[in-house]
Amino acid sequence: MLTQNLGYPRIGSKRQLKKACEAYWAGKIPLNDLQKAAAEIRETNWKLQQQAGLDLIPSNDFSFYDQVLDMAFTVGAIPGRYHEILTELKKPELDLYFAMARGYQKDGLDIIAMEMTKWFDTNYHYIVPEFTKDQQFKLFSTKVLDEFKEAKRLGIHTKPVLLGPVSFLLLGKEKEAGFHRIDLLKALLPVYIDLLKKLESLHADWVQLDEPFLVMDLKDEEKAAVRWAYQEIKKAVPGIKTLLTTYFGALDDNLTLAAGLPICGLHVDLVRNPEQLEAVLEKVPANMSLSLGLVDGRNIWKNDYQASLELINKARAAKQDERLLIGPSCSLLHSPCDLEEESNEHTLSAELKDWLAFARQKTTEITALKVIVEDAGSAKSKALLEENQASIAKKRTSERIHKPAVRKAVEGLTPNHSQRKSAFASRKTIQAEKLYLPDFPTTTIGSFPQTKEVRQWRSQLKKEVLTENQYVDNIKAATQEAIRWQEEVGLDVLVHGEFERNDMVEYFGEKLEGFAFTQYGWVQSYGSRCVKPPIIYGDVSRPKPMTLFWTTFAQSLTDKPVKGMLTGPVTILQWSFVRNDQSRKATCQQIALAIREEVKDLEKSGIQIIQIDEPALREGLPLRHAEWNDYLQWAVECFRISASAVEDSTQIHTHMCYSEFNDIIEHIAAMDADVITIECSRSQMELLDAFAQFNYPNDIGPGVYDIHSPRVPASEEMVTLMQKAQAVVPYRQLWVNPDCGLKTRGWEETKEALGRMVEAARKLRAAI
Ligand code: GLN
Ligand code: ZN
Repeated sequence: MLTQNLGYPRIGSKRQLKKACEAYWAGKIPLNDLQKAAAEIRETNWKLQQQAGLDLIPSNDFSFYDQVLDMAFTVGAIPGRYHEILTELKKPELDLYFAMARGYQKDGLDIIAMEMTKWFDTNYHYIVPEFTKDQQFKLFSTKVLDEFKEAKRLGIHTKPVLLGPVSFLLLGKEKEAGFHRIDLLKALLPVYIDLLKKLESLHADWVQLDEPFLVMDLKDEEKAAVRWAYQEIKKAVPGIKTLLTTYFGALDDNLTLAAGLPICGLHVDLVRNPEQLEAVLEKVPANMSLSLGLVDGRNIWKNDYQASLELINKARAAKQDERLLIGPSCSLLHSPCDLEEESNEHTLSAELKDWLAFARQKTTEITALKVIVEDAGSAKSKALLEENQASIAKKRTSERIHKPAVRKAVEGLTPNHSQRKSAFASRKTIQAEKLYLPDFPTTTIGSFPQTKEVRQWRSQLKKEVLTENQYVDNIKAATQEAIRWQEEVGLDVLVHGEFERNDMVEYFGEKLEGFAFTQYGWVQSYGSRCVKPPIIYGDVSRPKPMTLFWTTFAQSLTDKPVKGMLTGPVTILQWSFVRNDQSRKATCQQIALAIREEVKDLEKSGIQIIQIDEPALREGLPLRHAEWNDYLQWAVECFRISASAVEDSTQIHTHMCYSEFNDIIEHIAAMDADVITIECSRSQMELLDAFAQFNYPNDIGPGVYDIHSPRVPASEEMVTLMQKAQAVVPYRQLWVNPDCGLKTRGWEETKEALGRMVEAARKLRAAI
């Protein structure tokens, strides 16, 4: 049996890569220093995995920005607009690479970046390859070969990792009409073959080809493409041991296809879908190796060795040991680096730490499993298993996790909990009488600029440079100023500004029970951006109000309504590491009940409008269409649980952004928020079409300006956008607001833009 890893986090345990890249982009360090920092990370990672005792250690899993961009770069899929950077400016290759990821605005050039989108159902974002009809490919970058040689020099014979040709094409986008990107396979494959031959001549044996699309619904042409690609590879480079990896789901209807390919090994994800093992064992031929994905690459929990052993033993009963590999479910890219960095008892107690494994710990789990299997009966094997099972047992029964009252509350849920008292039409009349808002009411999405000053107060509070009282006074002053200014500019529904929040999920996680935090648990989100998701380890409850103080403080300063601002249950779930001992649905219901309590308290204290943000609702969609309905049912239900405890007169808003609505519009409608605000300006209101076609009955605030840019649009531009909206949605349903929160903007442009937005609303009112 071989042990292997599919990919190691490349950011460095202290985010060294982020720091080096950002310094290089700012012109603070030369290219050489950046290369050195990168080489150090690779060396450290390889050596860590070697020390852990892994047989197959990946190379080319390192990336300066993104592995999909790396593949585009490798096969020379470089859009024409970037060519000048090399040909005219004679810049180094890496500058061209970064230009594709981030755009290039200097040396008299203004070239936009390539698009970015989510990597399957993770929170990692990749750069979308661009293809033209007569797209040419050639081996442009030798990164794959260079990194293989680099490891070799360090005495480590690695397994190069490549994004497979079919998944690479499917992840991309056609930039002109008249072809489908899968048609490009014939042109692309020779480059893969060239690369594999070169690896062969460097004496590579195993090569990993990632084809995660095999866990998705595939069309017949796509299946045929997979078949053709791997037959050609086998014919051209028979000496390379191809390991085809699938992850994030089960092969299901693609199993026959995968097991019938002329590949040397197949990797399956047994964390997401342990139940697929039986069918896989039946289908995979005797001479094909099978790689068992046992250790969760996407979550932070310690592996349950006993459960893994059961799967391994099942496989051993059907297959020879020489034909088995064990490893993580997917690349460890999605795990934080090293649990040993965590030393703060306040954020992560020793008890909790004992239940966790980050990337480094996961590599040793993989080799431990092999020891337990192969040296069964030895003292070492017994000790490893016993120690692991002791931790698992403690977690199973810990009182920190299991709260009978929370269980009872969830069991007590009835359809009534997710039902407002009256239908929207009646609520609208009641709310109109109470709130007395004009047509085209104006509002914002919640946050106001998080200036350096504001962020500094938070860090000073942490370092005890500021006392709690001083900190609160500062935030009060900022809130007061924001309220005064919103009144002055003439907004209709005000917000408190969210100055007290670091992050829309972390803020709530810190106030809820059942959440824990790490100091260094960073995971790459995109490029140099990392996130530090909270860990939901136990039953979730709300020991005391979370937002009441700041919302009621803001409301006390004005006669205009101040909107309470909450993060919704699905978004909190989606942006955290979640429990693996109960369903996502069950965890989400617990969070929903906690938010519901907050909503009730806000209402009781006189807050008349409450917004429950759900920007991550769409991201939670399963990879297989057949599973969409089930997810959407409980996700919408959880939102409704959080929103439905109020009187008809209380207005519930929700907010979503950077999301398409066409295929889920009936579920968005089922959320039954009185008002939904959405990002819309970049699509020129096109996103509204889904609402219009559905005859969406409730109120909508389509964003009238892009908050990602410091650009301040003219009020006429916003009027034009709203007129477009009015053409498809009755004006009595429309609100006027920006695309999203303003926390990344500066005050000056914010004031300017909102002033013009209010002016635009006045013009719209005058025109009806
Ligand atoms: N209320 C949040 C804000 O304004 C919403 C952020 C989001 O949609 N991501 O910042
Ligand atoms: Zn948003």
